[in-house]
Amino acid sequence: MNIKLAVIPGDGIGPEVTEQAQKILDKIAGVYNHKFEYKTLLAGGAAIDAVNNCLPDETIAVCKASDAVLLGAVGGWKWDTLPGDKRPEMALLGLRKELGLFANIRPALLFDELADACPLKREIISSGANGKVELDIVVIRELTGGIYFGEKGFKDTPLGKAAYDVELYAEEEVRRIAVVAFDMAMKRNKKVTSVDKANVLESSRLWRQVVAETAKNYPEVKLENLYIDNAAMQLVRNPRQFDVIVTSNMFGDILSDEASMITGSIGMLPSASLKNGNFGMYEPVHGSAPDIAGQDKANPMAAILSAAMMLRYTFALSKEAEAIERAVKAVLAKSYRTGDIYSEGKTLIGTKEAGDLIAGEIR
Ligand code: NAD
Repeated sequence: MNIKLAVIPGDGIGPEVTEQAQKILDKIAGVYNHKFEYKTLLAGGAAIDAVNNCLPDETIAVCKASDAVLLGAVGGWKWDTLPGDKRPEMALLGLRKELGLFANIRPALLFDELADACPLKREIISSGANGKVELDIVVIRELTGGIYFGEKGFKDTPLGKAAYDVELYAEEEVRRIAVVAFDMAMKRNKKVTSVDKANVLESSRLWRQVVAETAKNYPEVKLENLYIDNAAMQLVRNPRQFDVIVTSNMFGDILSDEASMITGSIGMLPSASLKNGNFGMYEPVHGSAPDIAGQDKANPMAAILSAAMMLRYTFALSKEAEAIERAVKAVLAKSYRTGDIYSEGKTLIGTKEAGDLIAGEIR
């Protein structure tokens, strides 16, 4: 297969982990006879420094003309004093909107080998029967609607200056994300938990109603509704009850970080942002980690597993995706650990070595 990829390394550890993901893709290309053609693009702080615009038109155009996008991370201390609408992170919102990426998919999978890195007690994350660690959740977050994109502004009130952000969801926006969730559940354990705040919010009541309507087309899937406050609690009380969680932009932002933390390290978690059809942008869940940037300390596994998700979701190359996931597991099983997942008795490795070891496991 000939694949045209837009690559946005971004800032901080973004370029370091993206380089390792490309190393792995090149290895896959050799072993499975594919060809990846990369176009490296500017976005985020790097783009502000180069062209004074966090999301240049060329970046958007090349992404649109590519088969998929691989992104590192954007942002950093250097640009923290810029006004909100000029910050590097605006590039992410812009890319999602411009590319129509309305569905953010974040698997929270705890590798057996990393059970000790999970902050929850062992009995919570393993089944009573065989003591095996079983934590495999997918959080599906609506990405282009809701309060992050609603009307916002300031007004004067009797209590002084006030600010507002509007949460607004159209039926079709809810339906299409619900379809992604139910389709995903059909390929997994056939359970969808829809998370909202329908006891208080009108937008959540509409959300709940549309999700229930969509569920009628998936009689095999069990649908459960939870309020966000309860869902946040249940995720640490009994995370094994979840299969697919679907929720709005803001609730998903928070819940997916919580879900990621119970898997041990943010350095392990990949994500996909998809639109209808096969196009997607793939990126690690973590940010640019300015505290460890440029020190060969970043864990590249989230970026590498994001490349695996890309092969699976955009190109239907499941065999190749599994080869990458197996290689990551093999390196963990051999006790190699980057700093974020290190524990006593393991072998500490850097970013580049992690990439080399994983590449070496793909044969
Ligand atoms: P962060 O994810 O960058 O870092 C949080 C902590 O996790 C840090 O201690 C960091 O060292 C560690 N960490 C993160 N990724 C790691 C990895 N791969 N290996 C080892 N350790 C890792 O979050 P933050 O500190 O809140 O944000 C830093 C910058 O990144 C900010 O400018 C923020 O806006 C931006 N950000 C960008 C994205 C994105 O590009 N998608 C996402 C989140 C945050």
